[in-house]
Amino acid sequence: MPSERFTGLAAVLDAVRDTTGTTQPALVEQVGLGRSVVAERVAELEAAGLVASDGLGPSTGGRAPRRLRLRAEAGFVLGIDVASNELVVAVADLAGTIRATAQEHLDVSRGWEAGLPTVEALARSVADEAGARGNVWSVALGMPEPVAFDAGAPVALPTMPSWDGRAVRERLASAWSAPVWMDDRVNLLALGERRVNPVAARSAHMLYLGGGAGLGAAVVTDGRLYRGARGLAGAIGHVTVPEGGEVVCRCGSVGCLEAVVGGAALSRDARLLAETGQSPALAAILAETRALRPLDITRAAEQGDPAARALLHRAATVIGGVLATLVNAYNPELVVVGGGIARARAHVLAAMREAIYRHALPAATRDLQVDLSAVDEEIAGVTGAVQFALDQVFSREHLPALLAARTGTHGESGLSA
Ligand SMILES: [Zn+2]
Repeated sequence: MPSERFTGLAAVLDAVRDTTGTTQPALVEQVGLGRSVVAERVAELEAAGLVASDGLGPSTGGRAPRRLRLRAEAGFVLGIDVASNELVVAVADLAGTIRATAQEHLDVSRGWEAGLPTVEALARSVADEAGARGNVWSVALGMPEPVAFDAGAPVALPTMPSWDGRAVRERLASAWSAPVWMDDRVNLLALGERRVNPVAARSAHMLYLGGGAGLGAAVVTDGRLYRGARGLAGAIGHVTVPEGGEVVCRCGSVGCLEAVVGGAALSRDARLLAETGQSPALAAILAETRALRPLDITRAAEQGDPAARALLHRAATVIGGVLATLVNAYNPELVVVGGGIARARAHVLAAMREAIYRHALPAATRDLQVDLSAVDEEIAGVTGAVQFALDQVFSREHLPALLAARTGTHGESGLSA
């Protein structure tokens, strides 16, 4: 049956991707299919140029089996991370090793028609640097807002002019002759964390706090991203917090988390501390640079400035309170703090832990680990985007199309499977 065939192919391919130097006998154990079926699937993947021999593995009596490896060099994927103010693009091989990367300022609030040419130009230049032009198998795009995953389009939030997901995907797909996937970048940050950080990779139930200007969380349950019905799972930026008072949020609501401790709110509060003389360190930075970014609060805190430290402590406590609710709701074993706030490291981690332990159920926090992200912030988003591009192009759902394209067969039974 074609559907069984592709399920088997996907299982074998996943195992080869995950295990260095696996062999056919090892695959039989790993994927739970018969020897002859595994041999057939391996042969199909070799014919499509996805898998190759790589010397001999350990013998278990008879002839030593061939080692198998993913042909990482056969093609490339493109990962694009669109944050509120910044764009990062990476080209990686099929094993996810990044071959070239570049970044550029991008103001998403100007809308997709203004922003997409910048994305396209940077992607072309990075692809040229990596020698990937003409051999890109898959493109993944992270957006700074929730994305309705099945439709592949950002959910229209009132906070930014919506990027027309269908138009963006169609333009990129035709430019690269490759399938294009789109997701909330916070979800991709979580995928990147799982790729790089072994603790996160081992964790089946994980919450990831991310975001810069906006705040969001990714929810991983049973080792998979949980997106919800419309891609809004973990969209905590606009939940109401007790500390919110009457602060009006850019979404039009009152008392949102983001309006209290989002990037813009922290910059606003830092300026107030500088201008009222409560923070000499922030005042000095403001005099020098004429603007205060959230990162400047961390710089001031590192100089020992009490007001800056108190501001970070309060932000971490408020965010920790919301994370405690998520901990109760999803019962993770690991919370990873990433995004802009993680730059403040020790200045926020203790307060966040304290708030989570105070507000969440003791049974939910007994074995809970709360840690800072282990991924370099500059490439966290594209690392996840690359992983997403690979997971999607090698998925059971996409494999029929990929194999048809690789072997030049069309209208194969598998396409209707
Ligand atoms: Zn809001």
